[in-house]
Amino acid sequence: MSKIHNFSAGPSILAESAFEKSIQDIKNFAGTGLSILEVSHRGKEFEKVMADTVTLVRELLNVPENYDVLFLQGGASTQFFQIPMNFLKTKATYTQTGTWASRAIIEAQGFGHTEVLGSSKSANFSFVPKDYTVPADADYFHCTSNNTIFGTQMKSYPNCGDVPLICDMSSDIFSKPVDVSKFAMIYAGAQKNMGPAGVTLVIIRKDMYQKVADRHIPTMMKYSIHAENDSMYNTPPVFPILVSKYNLEWMKAVGGVEAMAVRNTAKADLLYNAIDNSPYFKGTSAIEDRSQMNVCFVFEEEHLHLEEAFNLACKEANLSGLKGHRSVGGYRASLYNALPIESVQALVNVMENFAS
Ligand SMILES: *Cc1c(COP(=O)(O)O)cnc(C)c1O
Repeated sequence: MSKIHNFSAGPSILAESAFEKSIQDIKNFAGTGLSILEVSHRGKEFEKVMADTVTLVRELLNVPENYDVLFLQGGASTQFFQIPMNFLKTKATYTQTGTWASRAIIEAQGFGHTEVLGSSKSANFSFVPKDYTVPADADYFHCTSNNTIFGTQMKSYPNCGDVPLICDMSSDIFSKPVDVSKFAMIYAGAQKNMGPAGVTLVIIRKDMYQKVADRHIPTMMKYSIHAENDSMYNTPPVFPILVSKYNLEWMKAVGGVEAMAVRNTAKADLLYNAIDNSPYFKGTSAIEDRSQMNVCFVFEEEHLHLEEAFNLACKEANLSGLKGHRSVGGYRASLYNALPIESVQALVNVMENFAS
């Protein structure tokens, strides 16, 4: 089979080594003679996987001591309601920068007063609002670092003072260095840049356990419970954690998030240059807010009739996962960590050949 270039927005491409090692563990996990899929999560072999994965997250993101690293379930979408359930007392503040941010806002509204400080909804989320101040009396400020569907990305974070800064980093975590100490909490569904679907990474500052609202919080929704039990209060998503471990090991081996940033910048520059220089295509998001992870582009109106021919050319070149989200249309090339620059070059070649 010839190589497929996988531009899928999520679940997305992972390191080849993560697949190979995981396959071995499905057959014979850590010398137990049993599959990873059939052993107790309380055994020392899996406990080591859990501990190693936490350590890798800590090393890669330089997570300070006063933060816990948790592996939860329910996807980033569960965090949309778990956060206000825990932390919304009198007022929560949000930016509305895309579909995921909008869903997070809806969940917060179910728990209390929710203020939207900046929204680009009326511009179909084509830019990231920056013109707002986080009020000092907010319980927290929530933002989305990378808007997976619309291809925009925050390049800086507002000064929140003492207001806890909470960020959905589902689609750009591990893509570049991040100063964790600026955040009260970071969360990410694994399946965009960390591992397979089924596990959610939460990095939370320990003082947040004292800031929980005075309402009934189901045990499974308490961050402190998961912290006290090393993410094993109940059966954790064993296999997604294992595959994430191997994918994170690959990131570390090739130079960590600093190296990822260099790779990702090179990939994004290559593709945005091709779009900007093409008479056929145009980008859909504000240039200063363009995402390095999800590159959205459409045909110029006068060339729209060429869409079918271009789709066919992409297919012939083994380019997969390029269809834009239905709310934007056109194309979206997701350039997550494990995607090699050769795949981006293959796409650029098709765009350029198409032009000539
Ligand atoms: C994909 C995505 C989500 C939803 O993640 P699930 O794990 O499927 O719930 C939330 N936020 C962002 C930024 C995403 O890209």
